[in-house]
Amino acid sequence: MSRVAYVNGRYIRHAAAGVSIDDRAFLFADGIYEVIEVFDGRLIDEEGHLLRLARSAAQLRLTLPMAATALRRILRELVARNRVTDGHVYLQVTRGAAKRDHGFPKPGTPSTVVAFAHRGDRAAAEARAHAGIKVISLPDIRWKRPDIKTTSLLPNVLAKQQAKEAGAYEAWLVDADGFVTEGSSSNAWIVDSAGVLVTHPADSAILAGITRARLLKIAAARGLKIVERPFTLAEAFRAQEAFISGATTIVLPVVAIDGQNIGSGAPGAVALGLRASFHEFAPATA
Ligand code: PMP
Repeated sequence: MSRVAYVNGRYIRHAAAGVSIDDRAFLFADGIYEVIEVFDGRLIDEEGHLLRLARSAAQLRLTLPMAATALRRILRELVARNRVTDGHVYLQVTRGAAKRDHGFPKPGTPSTVVAFAHRGDRAAAEARAHAGIKVISLPDIRWKRPDIKTTSLLPNVLAKQQAKEAGAYEAWLVDADGFVTEGSSSNAWIVDSAGVLVTHPADSAILAGITRARLLKIAAARGLKIVERPFTLAEAFRAQEAFISGATTIVLPVVAIDGQNIGSGAPGAVALGLRASFHEFAPATA
């Protein structure tokens, strides 16, 4: 069965799908996106993702060409046509195609909407979670608005590649004051030496992860002590546990940072517990 993608109103064979070379996302990374998990054929926390897409659009003065209900219909169609049981859907909206000029195209230029689906491997994801992942630390060299989910991801791409080349799964980005902001494609968490769950506040220095928000609610319901505050790398080394979160990874325990074991050097109980209960609590829409 060949994969099917959505491009500006049409469902096309994925391999044949494309957009104009004048597209603003191709020329300027002038676009926004969302990645939503599909679990048991249902979209997880879809509303939160679509609300964040609307916020990203507003922040970049980009007009969403259709209402959330129409976007939801497209995502469902992709899940069905690609027969995704577990995996994710990707949705991108750009400022459209226009003669190359840094300033916005003339009003009325249609936005580009692209979406596609990926099948995941639940067993492989579980195996990764139970083995734990390694991370490396790198300076956070991104622009000052990583809270906007744009396709402008070059620093994240470079950080992820450096992590891979170091045999790690993720890079934790460290700001000029020594605080860990987040991962290159995930939010960063620790269980500090006092047993408190700590993650960076959802300010302009990080992407306010939808998974992060859901985990904070789950952790509160489980009676865990939680503080949203920045933590340093030095504190992470002393932490009982560390983990990352994101829509494609849910929760992955971090067992080493920069080659130093965290806690016992094995996945922690808090991280694995949050991962195990995530889908019980996260709203899933068919
Ligand atoms: N931070 C960054 C930089 C990301 O790319 C992601 C993944 N989109 C996240 C955090 C996690 O966000 P979410 O839980 O909404 O996937």
